[in-house]
Amino acid sequence: MLSKRLSGIEESATMKMGSLAKKLQAEGKSVLNFSLGEPDFKTPGHICEAAKRALDLGYTHYTSSAGIGELREAIAEKIREENKVDVSAENVIVTPGAKQAIYELMMGVLDEGDEVILLDPAWVTFESAVKLAGGNPKWVKRLEEGVKYESLESVASENTKMIIINSPNNPVGYVLSDNELKEIAEFAVDHDLLVLSDEIYEKIIYGRKHVSIASFDGMQARTVIINGFSKTYAMTGWRIGYAVAPTTEILEGMLKIQQHSVSCAPSIAQSAALTALSSPQDCVKEMVEQFKRRRDVIVKRLSEIGLRCLNPEGAFYAFVNTSNYGNDMELTERLLKEAYIVVTPGSAFGVAGKDYVRFSFAASIEDILEGMGRIEKMF
Ligand code: GLU
Repeated sequence: MLSKRLSGIEESATMKMGSLAKKLQAEGKSVLNFSLGEPDFKTPGHICEAAKRALDLGYTHYTSSAGIGELREAIAEKIREENKVDVSAENVIVTPGAKQAIYELMMGVLDEGDEVILLDPAWVTFESAVKLAGGNPKWVKRLEEGVKYESLESVASENTKMIIINSPNNPVGYVLSDNELKEIAEFAVDHDLLVLSDEIYEKIIYGRKHVSIASFDGMQARTVIINGFSKTYAMTGWRIGYAVAPTTEILEGMLKIQQHSVSCAPSIAQSAALTALSSPQDCVKEMVEQFKRRRDVIVKRLSEIGLRCLNPEGAFYAFVNTSNYGNDMELTERLLKEAYIVVTPGSAFGVAGKDYVRFSFAASIEDILEGMGRIEKMF
């Protein structure tokens, strides 16, 4: 019964492992969930209050498909001020989660056989979104080694249409250096490519500074910035994200898909997002400080146990090398069976991840310490 389109599309490994952990927890098992990249903090109170006000005021209907005007304005202002990219509200589409923005972009710009460069390993949904839209992913390894113009060149063809970057990165936690961004930008200009820059972790960064590739010379015209409220404001369940498109053509293409699929982002979540953006940002600072403490604890404990991970400079993932204990699938299974710990196997993110598992440290320090203790005992 299934369409050919779905062949070769895997279930989302992050959502699947997250559901497995939730199921086992609901059964009363003492499971520790390090699989899903989901802040465990409550959505800040002032954002929840805004949603309650929206309900009381009756903002419970469709909004205009691209999003409410004030929110689009506020996003454009944020992008101008923080990311140094000169855009207006007309460039912004508000979507039910950043994932929907990615899907709309792929469906909007890719034709059958178009090639899209992905940096290996990459978050699971990029590959699937490319394939669902009929595109072919082309992988360039970027695990510990930086991205170079020549390595991008080695997979380029006349069918290459886009490159996807995600910095700070999921699942590795790296932040692309200025030099890497420069080489990617030069490559995109030379080959006349679109760039999807997923900047959802821009605020969750430790001692580095986020720079949007769209702020590089000549890049605004070819970069689609994707971002959202889920990670920065602990709003995963609200489903609220956005894209900033470089041209009216791309924006209107995405809008058509939005109109014919989800109509608009949830009205109440849009009101809450407007408050999130236009209020003081102390809540973000506090959550990021906690993520940093957790990062320091998990990296230290992992290394004491003899598990090596790349030091995450952003996002909330530790990408841990499993070589001493078998491959990613073997260690994932062992952690689940012997320690009741749920992680995401690295190969779900690309072949470069096959000897890695991803720990999300968007979990309490207590859970992290308990989890590391269980692993120590298991070994
Ligand atoms: N992005 C998060 C993750 O990688 C949430 C799940 C998902 O959207 O894939 O775990």
